[in-house]
Amino acid sequence: MADYRYLFTPLKLGPIVLKNRIVCAAHGNQVADPVTFMVTDRAKSYYEERARGGAAAIILVSSSVDETADYFPATNFALWTDDIIPGLKELVDICHANDCKFLVQPSHPGVHNDCHVQVDEVPRAPSQIPAVEYPNLVPKELTKKEIVEIQDKFARAAGRCVAAGVDGIELMCGHEKLTWAFLAPLSNKRTDEYGGSLENRFRFMGEMLEKVRRETGDDFPIGLRLNITELENGGMTLEEGIQIAKMFEATGKLDWLGCVMATYRSMPFELSPFCANLEPGWGGEFSRNIKAEIKKMPVSVSGKITDPGLAENMIAEGACDYVYLARTLIADPHFPRKAMQGKEDDIAPCIACNQGCVARCFAGARGTTNGIRCTVNPAAGEELRWGSWLFSNTGTRKKILVVGAGPAGLQCALTASQRGHEVTIYDQQDELGGQARLIKKLPGHTAPQTFLDYLAGQLQKLNVPIHLGQDINGENIKSLIDRQAPDLVALATGSRPARDGRGGLTGVPIPGWEQAHVCTYEDILLNTGSVGQNVLIVDELADRVSPGIAELLAESGKNVTVVTRWASFSPNLHWWLDEPFTIGKLDMLGVQIHPDTWVKEITPTGATCFNMFSFREFELAADTVVLTTMKYSQTDLYALFDKEGIECHLIGDAKAPRWIWNATHDGFKLAWEA
Ligand code: SF4
Repeated sequence: MADYRYLFTPLKLGPIVLKNRIVCAAHGNQVADPVTFMVTDRAKSYYEERARGGAAAIILVSSSVDETADYFPATNFALWTDDIIPGLKELVDICHANDCKFLVQPSHPGVHNDCHVQVDEVPRAPSQIPAVEYPNLVPKELTKKEIVEIQDKFARAAGRCVAAGVDGIELMCGHEKLTWAFLAPLSNKRTDEYGGSLENRFRFMGEMLEKVRRETGDDFPIGLRLNITELENGGMTLEEGIQIAKMFEATGKLDWLGCVMATYRSMPFELSPFCANLEPGWGGEFSRNIKAEIKKMPVSVSGKITDPGLAENMIAEGACDYVYLARTLIADPHFPRKAMQGKEDDIAPCIACNQGCVARCFAGARGTTNGIRCTVNPAAGEELRWGSWLFSNTGTRKKILVVGAGPAGLQCALTASQRGHEVTIYDQQDELGGQARLIKKLPGHTAPQTFLDYLAGQLQKLNVPIHLGQDINGENIKSLIDRQAPDLVALATGSRPARDGRGGLTGVPIPGWEQAHVCTYEDILLNTGSVGQNVLIVDELADRVSPGIAELLAESGKNVTVVTRWASFSPNLHWWLDEPFTIGKLDMLGVQIHPDTWVKEITPTGATCFNMFSFREFELAADTVVLTTMKYSQTDLYALFDKEGIECHLIGDAKAPRWIWNATHDGFKLAWEA
């Protein structure tokens, strides 16, 4: 067990005392009601699980004070109405029952409001600079009367929080929200007393803080979440961030300072994906400069803090006084409790994939994505359905045979074993991992291995037998069934890439796919053939595979060209926040990308391609053509088990090839319902 001198010692935040130094940071999760913005049972169970896990405090998702600016797409709570008070009270009670403080983060989305529902409204901002995501939705410049109205709305929202009995509020002043937009020269071009000099740009926050304090009284805990640097060209630097932090400190009206780096324009830094290769705890390098200057307020920071030892060191070395964890507590709400008990190995590690959390909350329209999920924690967002699964045990012990040791199979085996079932795993390969075993060979893709190591370690602790290198077929299935006598088989045999290049675009094979110089991404990763100097990648998957293959081959000195049916290469990289890092690397490596392009025919010397909209044809030369199109489920064993009268369930890619979070979700669900 690590020696935690700081992490589990109390800390005073103004009038309140945190029991330890771990705070669940405000984060988008879509657990509010998407129409009324009220507190739902789903929200209660989501936050309850994180309170039970041992966090010292939970901060509710950043929520709007203004009924004309309900934040899209990450649904928030309606701090603009007294109707929210009873729901907030319930959340307070839930957290207090678990010895956890409950804080609220009043905010105003400013330009990040696409008026999706309120079509007669417009976004509002200090100046007419649109949000990066809505260039055609230029905001209305606020009049002085409107500025006063919004400041008053912050004060009234704070009053509601006091009425609900919350333990404090943290005003949001980052991520290009309205409050930050006043401070930032990139978004504030005003020439009146609210623009120009730093003193003028600070005026909106200064006046608002006065009003909020008048409403709450001096003893009510109020902190600030502040952008300390924008990490974008022409944006606020750390030096300016320090100056602003000092101005806030000088008001004497704040009890703590939470540091955040990056805005929506530089969001991939704030929610760094694993491809970014940003060091865990990277935010500490910024916050330590703030902490060195700010003496009257405790300082916290976030940024890939996935290890309790790292959190301890950051506090010990003066980078911060406490840590903000968001994805880390989505991945394992019991991170604090497990660390405190010396069970660090049992912490499910966030792998920074951004698939279940960021992408699901930001990519879809409000209410339609059904909220947050997590690759390594299938119960995330499903707490209402599955409760506190860590402590649950089934009443009926079954013998479960899991075939396939990829993420779906391993998760199924782990959850089933944790629930008290007798589990055995078989896999044809000599190594655990399924498709993840291949993906880790892509440059910068070591994170999935962390998850596999966690699953393998947990299964070992539970003494779950794993038989690798075991081919199950028509010859030996009877003897396997006789030996294992399973009540149920979980078939997690994964998927294989389409060798003929068919996919969603045309549904038919690409002519010429049978030639010897045509292969799949799987062949590349398994090194099953020679690769020529000039490689053409034909991409339809829109995930990390094609860019990873392109990088791998370009780094080995090949000339790589990509044709993709999409308008940009692997558009999901945008939602997973990999795009600037991955596409930037490919550009530096000289990879040529042809968007909106498909292949008419693969020829002996390359491919005849065409622009999908003009149908203009052109030739691309290549010695090797790599197909990354659709995948097929591997289901052969289903019929064999079925024939033997064994209850058999397909999970993961064997059921239907999807994302990794779908695979673990399938495995968890089957184990839970078995
Ligand atoms: Fe982390 Fe991925 Fe889970 Fe998000 S979905 S919390 S990034 S493991």
